[in-house]
Amino acid sequence: MEDKMSGFSMRQSSLKVKRDIYERSRQNMLDSQLIPRGIKQPEVLHAMLTIPRHLFVDEALWSQAYTDHALPIGEKQTISQPYMVAFMTESLGLTGSEKVLEIGTGSGYQSAVLSMMAHKVYSIERIGKIAAKTRKLLDGFMCPNVIVRVSDGTLGWPDEAPFDAIIVTAGSPVVPNALIEQLRPGGRLVIPVGQEEDQKLLRITRGEDGGADTEVLGGCKFVKLIGKQGWQQEARERVS
Ligand code: SAH
Repeated sequence: MEDKMSGFSMRQSSLKVKRDIYERSRQNMLDSQLIPRGIKQPEVLHAMLTIPRHLFVDEALWSQAYTDHALPIGEKQTISQPYMVAFMTESLGLTGSEKVLEIGTGSGYQSAVLSMMAHKVYSIERIGKIAAKTRKLLDGFMCPNVIVRVSDGTLGWPDEAPFDAIIVTAGSPVVPNALIEQLRPGGRLVIPVGQEEDQKLLRITRGEDGGADTEVLGGCKFVKLIGKQGWQQEARERVS
């Protein structure tokens, strides 16, 4: 237990965060959005109180960064609503020692939260332009335990498997098999699954015998997970 806790404090102190004018907005976000809806894990609340979410969106959106909404981050993608970030993170049941795979790096905000809560974070983004910008941002915060790679996350990261936890922050029509296969026994996968406009957030726990147990955590709406084991890319979206 002590080791796990010291893992947390080590991560927290390595994050380079300056004081800023949004401290009160972050506290309000906890008090009005996260705590009343049941987020309890102290490390999740601490991470979200510490990380300057506004820096993960364009400056024109800073004043909206702590509101109860997803926001655009370019390339038709979004940074998830704060509550959804907190809920998904808490659902992973992290204790500080885990190897985590994240699919859909996007703005990097969820990655930064995970960096404070896990030993190492492997994050995959499909769009190179987004990944390049986010890598720079995360380097600026000194999140050395986050590695961002550009590829199709529906296939996971076989070279680094197995993972203790996998989080997918884009909606998929099915649960990609590759992700279940890359969970270690006892590992948890949290993923939105369903139609384009409306998904169920699932938590799949891999059993010691290789079987899997699925729980429905609630409803949600994410942008599409596009890849071999997700949605097909539409022809007009294709870039050469
Ligand atoms: N956690 C991010 C969410 C970004 S939106 C945040 O809060 O900012 C979802 C992201 O998933 C987008 O950046 C999108 O490009 C990415 N994505 C979609 N399909 C993907 C795939 N197959 N592999 C990796 N990333 C994918």
